[in-house]
Amino acid sequence: MKRFLLLVLSLAITVFGMALVGCQPSTPPHEHDFKEIAESTALKTEATCTHKAVYFKSCECGELSSDTFEYGETTPHDYKETVKDSALVKGADCVNRALYKKSCDCGALSSDTFEYGEIGTHAFPEGVCTGCNQALFNVSNTNSITGFSDWGKTLKLSKLLLPTRINGADVTSISKEAFLNCSSLTEVIIPESYTYVGAQAFRACTKLTKISLPNSLTFLGAGAFEFCNNLQHNVYNKAEYLGNDENPYLVLTYNNNNTDFHPNAKLIASNAFANFYGLTSIDIPDTIIFIGNGAFNSNSSLKSVTIPSSVTYIDAAAFMATGIESIVIPDSVSAILDNTFALCNNLKNIVIPRSVTEIGDFAFDLSDRLSKIFYMGSASDWTNINIGEFNDSLLFATRYYYSENEPTTDGNYWHYDENGEIEIWE
Ligand SMILES: [Zn+2]
Ligand SMILES: [Zn+2]
Ligand SMILES: [Zn+2]
Repeated sequence: MKRFLLLVLSLAITVFGMALVGCQPSTPPHEHDFKEIAESTALKTEATCTHKAVYFKSCECGELSSDTFEYGETTPHDYKETVKDSALVKGADCVNRALYKKSCDCGALSSDTFEYGEIGTHAFPEGVCTGCNQALFNVSNTNSITGFSDWGKTLKLSKLLLPTRINGADVTSISKEAFLNCSSLTEVIIPESYTYVGAQAFRACTKLTKISLPNSLTFLGAGAFEFCNNLQHNVYNKAEYLGNDENPYLVLTYNNNNTDFHPNAKLIASNAFANFYGLTSIDIPDTIIFIGNGAFNSNSSLKSVTIPSSVTYIDAAAFMATGIESIVIPDSVSAILDNTFALCNNLKNIVIPRSVTEIGDFAFDLSDRLSKIFYMGSASDWTNINIGEFNDSLLFATRYYYSENEPTTDGNYWHYDENGEIEIWE
């Protein structure tokens, strides 16, 4: 019986054991359920100032996906005092150091600023210092620069770039004597758009070595660079010129040995042909627009001059005391200024165009042989000319008025014949 029980028991254990084995769970394969759970084990990259933190998606089982997601906020920028152009708020001026925004390495700029570097210098892009607001120049009511202001003088500037605008107005001219005796100046740039440099504007600027004149220049007054003994000229065929980098031969300043102009010359400066002994004849080329004060003064051997119609301005005394025998003023000229033909003892006749409305004092003073005036206009046109004093030689000469066809009325008339020669209608 005991043995039977043992058998039953072992059988039961076996069956029970078999039952246990047979009940083992046959689990289906686990499907990961990847979710956006921001926990440190799933962190891919930490947050920076430009990017949020990046995490891998994760399953509850701990498995990480290759899919990622961003979470949280970017970190604050780390603004530092880094000196770089992109952070510059305002350059240094004569009052303040340069001002920069603080910046993060990522490039972000703070609204916080810091100063750096040294106090700067005065700067005058429009003739008034952008830092201390003081005016560098005095300016006339026609916006012509008349010279340094009292404060400007104290600066003793050596290099000077003239402004094209002052107080919001265009500036195109330099008045006479504006920079007379400015012995600190070594280099001056007169920018493009300037048309007028007055008489003696830079006279006796003894340290001036370099000047840049604009191509726009139409007037250069008497002695503008007189006694600028260190001024460097550009030489062409032994003659001297001033100009700019683009055209170094803009202004003929001195020629005492030939009549060969550089083809880019536009102006003849005052006294340019002084001391040219033996000059007998000159054809001024049609590139020339301006003949300076006394340009041919006292060239007593000079008998013949042709002036092209490109010339619009003949400054005073240009042909004074020359040996000119006859001259044709082109109809591009509106004034025969003071002393222009004074003391021209050989001048017998002159053609004056209708465009001339002004004849200055002494223009023909003591030009005693002047006998014929060939006027391009009528008698009534002549009365419109404003004639200055001491011009008896002009007034006592016989005046002929222009008539293309043979006149039917009495009076003195002339015309150009088929060869372009002056012919008096008899
Ligand atoms: Zn899982
Ligand atoms: Zn940053
Ligand atoms: Zn200043």
